[in-house]
Amino acid sequence: MAANYASVQPGRFRVLKQGAKPVDPNPGPVVYWMFRDQRVKDNWALIHAVEEATRLVFPSPWPSIYTYQIPFFLFRGEAEETIPKFVRECGASLLVTDFSPLREVQKCKEEICKRVSDCVTIHEVDAHNVVPIWAASEKLEYSARTIRSKINKWLPEYLIEFPTLQPPIAKWVGTSPSIDWDGLIDEVLRKGAEVPEVDWCEPGEKAAVEVLMGSKSGFLTKRLKGYSSDRNNPLKPRGLSGLSPYLHFGQISAQRCALEARSVRKLSPLAVDAFLEELIVRRELADNYCFYQPHYDSLLGAWEWARKTLMDHASDKREHIYTREQMEKAQTADPLWNASQLEMVHYGKMHGFMRMYWAKKILEWTKGPEEALEISIYLNNKYEIDGRDPNGYVGCMWSICGVHDQGWKERPIFGKIRYMNYAGCKRKFDVDGYISYAKRLGDIKKRKAESLILSKKAKELCS
Ligand SMILES: Cc1cc2nc3c(=O)[nH]c(=O)nc-3n(C[C@H](O)[C@H](O)[C@H](O)COP(=O)(O)OP(=O)(O)OC[C@H]3O[C@@H](n4cnc5c(N)ncnc54)[C@H](O)[C@@H]3O)c2cc1C
Repeated sequence: MAANYASVQPGRFRVLKQGAKPVDPNPGPVVYWMFRDQRVKDNWALIHAVEEATRLVFPSPWPSIYTYQIPFFLFRGEAEETIPKFVRECGASLLVTDFSPLREVQKCKEEICKRVSDCVTIHEVDAHNVVPIWAASEKLEYSARTIRSKINKWLPEYLIEFPTLQPPIAKWVGTSPSIDWDGLIDEVLRKGAEVPEVDWCEPGEKAAVEVLMGSKSGFLTKRLKGYSSDRNNPLKPRGLSGLSPYLHFGQISAQRCALEARSVRKLSPLAVDAFLEELIVRRELADNYCFYQPHYDSLLGAWEWARKTLMDHASDKREHIYTREQMEKAQTADPLWNASQLEMVHYGKMHGFMRMYWAKKILEWTKGPEEALEISIYLNNKYEIDGRDPNGYVGCMWSICGVHDQGWKERPIFGKIRYMNYAGCKRKFDVDGYISYAKRLGDIKKRKAESLILSKKAKELCS
């Protein structure tokens, strides 16, 4: 139980604001604002917060004899207001938070820096990436090829086992408010009423570990080999790890996934290497893009060659033009595209291979790349369970604007952007099978919704 702090490498966090030396010798509590990485286990931001709290109370490593709970508060409203208010009320001198490269989050933190008192310090910890974003690269990377060696160079330093989270050594003396979970869930359901509920993905840290390495159908324990052979087959969704919802909400650490995958590499080296490429290189490349490219969701964020070729072809004749509403309702003339849209709407997670086809077709069916980007990002963020993630912005930018890709043979509408079509999909997998599968997903959802309405009506009649 020794307070063995400073296990968090200095490169893992950055100081967003250095507070002035406080007049009050009592440093007050450390507040940890959990945002992107919503877990207790394997969380560098939480570990850092606890270590800093220990250091502030005892300026040298000290054996802890007390085990106290860390109180949990849940605030509703704008973080720019709730966080500074809470920091002020509890007299904290240090605010620790996790990292997200997305614009709204970065702006919100800038505002929080301005609103807390002079003596408050703010640390931002990259608990999401295996190699912290600012350590991997100090600039916008061109492609996986340019970032891969930079990440690999740092893996021995950062891809390490996590220390055990030490209990905090000072007691929280304030109140811990009760949380109205039911009210909160009702509000979320009301606000998201247009999006069908996802019922296959159990939330939480325990469920995430089960998906990674559970004895029933864990990815590393039962499905690893399929990752080499089946991961590009949309009819075999379980050929993929299925980890993106958990990674997106931070309910599992990518570092934990990488450590566990590496430990079973000898069972299936090809599958593990391919998985680590996606999990570390591609995922961290997406964070790099959103962190260093302020226009990560617009044509301005494309490379010069891609912008030019897209503009050269912006007025090319389109065979079809669809509105956002027509696409949202899967009302295009392409049954394969409609199937992918239905898979996303009814299942909440479109297969990775289909996401590329889906976004590229939107470019083909809209007035130009800006509109295509807007629609694809809107739909992706609304319906994908792993949406509103750097991976999603980059997925759309890759498909429509060639970000992290190279130029290909020039053709109408796409210019030199990589092209995908129905015939290509037909050569790769059973397109008709996928269309039937997506239809079944829709039918199941419809039946469930109908039986829910019936049981509600029955309850109303009985009461
Ligand atoms: C148009 C488009 C939109 C996308 N939208 C999202 C999104 O909103 N959220 C999201 O997490 N991913 C998105 N992706 C990337 C990828 O399709 C998904 O991460 C993957 O399908 C998730 O399923 P999985 O976890 O079972 O994949 P696995 O293949 O098992 O991958 C494991 C993990 O590696 C990472 N990963 C895999 N592929 C990529 C990739 N191409 N780029 C970056 N990281 C990757 C993800 O974190 C994923 O969970 C998008 C891709 C495209 C082309």
